[in-house]
Amino acid sequence: MKLIALGTTGYHPNDQRQTACYMIPEIGLVLDAGTGAYRIRKHLQGDSLDIYLSHAHLDHVMGITFLFDVLYERDVSVARVHGVAEKLAAIQDHLFASDLFPILPPIEWHPLDASQKVGGRGELTTFPLEHPGGSVGFRIDWPDYSMAYVTDTMADVGADYVAKLSGVDLLLHECYFRDEYRDFAVRSGHSWTTPVCEVARAAKVGRLVLIHINPLDESDDPVDLSKAREIFPATDVAFDGMEIDLPIA
Ligand SMILES: [Zn+2]
Ligand SMILES: [Zn+2]
Repeated sequence: MKLIALGTTGYHPNDQRQTACYMIPEIGLVLDAGTGAYRIRKHLQGDSLDIYLSHAHLDHVMGITFLFDVLYERDVSVARVHGVAEKLAAIQDHLFASDLFPILPPIEWHPLDASQKVGGRGELTTFPLEHPGGSVGFRIDWPDYSMAYVTDTMADVGADYVAKLSGVDLLLHECYFRDEYRDFAVRSGHSWTTPVCEVARAAKVGRLVLIHINPLDESDDPVDLSKAREIFPATDVAFDGMEIDLPIA
């Protein structure tokens, strides 16, 4: 299986990056539905689509309104959207308020359980993250591989969530800012380079891929990758269209 990064920035898209969306096409699983969600259509393989939401901020949910087009002439008749119950209610009340988006696409809403089965013999578990309004992280364990998705939080080696990442083969972790912008990160509840890499090292993950990259920084090196690799060598920066092999039997 592989995971495709469909949107690797936060807050707003820029010319290179759409907002948060990651997909494992083989099992129809999507993590967050930011503006990158329009790209799901191109990668849909089967007749199911499960979208797991970390939280309800617009850069993670706005793409749910794209589902009419995403599912057009595809075999999926209804998308299952999973999230914390109160966030799902907020999306239905506000994003789909009649003045904003009056017709509801074909969606089933599924409040998250602490643990649920996902395609390919996987088990998805959730854990809370510190972020204004709250966010949840996801860990998926297959019998022979594991990954975690942590976005919209302030990385901190002392935080409770670090234990949940223990030994994962792949960690997708937000890194909105370079270290120089630490103050912005603290104010907005986001992460900067050094503590993210310290978390990866402390949790002994196999590989770190940095996501939710600052949309204002369109340089070649938005996270200071050499500094990141000094702390955790197996670090890469995600880009839209990036494909990551998930060696799952
Ligand atoms: Zn975000
Ligand atoms: Zn957020």
